[in-house]
Amino acid sequence: MKKIVILTGAGISAESGIKTFRDGDGLWETHRVEDVATPQAWVKDAELVLDFYNARRKQLFEVAPNSAHLALKKLEDKFDVQIITQNVDNLHERAGSSNVLHLHGLLTQARSTFDPSLIYDIGDKALKIGDKCERGSQLRPHIVWFGEAVPNIEPAAKIVSKANILMIIGTSLLVYPAAGLMYYAPVHSQKFYIDPSATDIPDVKNLTIVKEKAGTGVPRVVEQLLKGENGK
Ligand code: NAD
Repeated sequence: MKKIVILTGAGISAESGIKTFRDGDGLWETHRVEDVATPQAWVKDAELVLDFYNARRKQLFEVAPNSAHLALKKLEDKFDVQIITQNVDNLHERAGSSNVLHLHGLLTQARSTFDPSLIYDIGDKALKIGDKCERGSQLRPHIVWFGEAVPNIEPAAKIVSKANILMIIGTSLLVYPAAGLMYYAPVHSQKFYIDPSATDIPDVKNLTIVKEKAGTGVPRVVEQLLKGENGK
């Protein structure tokens, strides 16, 4: 069975109603990223950070997977599929995808500020100042903030290095280290980049650019792959 590795970014969830931030005014739902998604923001105003992620979590339960998420699930009929996502939403899981690795954490989980290995499923619950882990320290969102290490980057690079086919969907390729993952793909693997702003990627061979929204571009490429065509 051929292995398809899929790297997704905020753009795949845009048509579900979850905003990306690089598309618009550089703000994320009216906030500067530095004010809500950095360790410095947490030290300065933890309540604002918790409120921001509480709102993102609440919104997640008001939206649904779109045709792009659903199409990726269909690939499992014929391929060994691994999704690696920068997204903190759970729309791939809710579309039924079996193998999803989150690089930047997950809105529906919280973790201890004392021991990062203590991670808790919280579903749609709001986190508040005073919510504590079993060791008695404040809980924070289980999110990799800008400026923090990305613990899943090494397993992700290993997965990409085994790809027969690589799909890159809805990402500006500006957020590192995630943006460097495609360079681990074997040179001769077939590659697709589906994003309305997609441009050629220097030094990446066998790349087909699909300058289209995920909601239409992904189902089309998936159908072609399932039919055994080259997807172009
Ligand atoms: P990003 O850097 O991946 O850029 C967004 C990309 O989506 C752009 O290239 C844009 O052209 C593309 N796009 C917009 N609409 C699209 C569509 N309909 N179909 C396909 N592509 C489309 O992402 P970002 O918004 O700059 O966010 C950076 C980080 O912030 C993420 O890696 C993530 O950790 C976090 N974030 C997560 C979510 C989420 O979980 N849904 C949303 C916003 C931000």
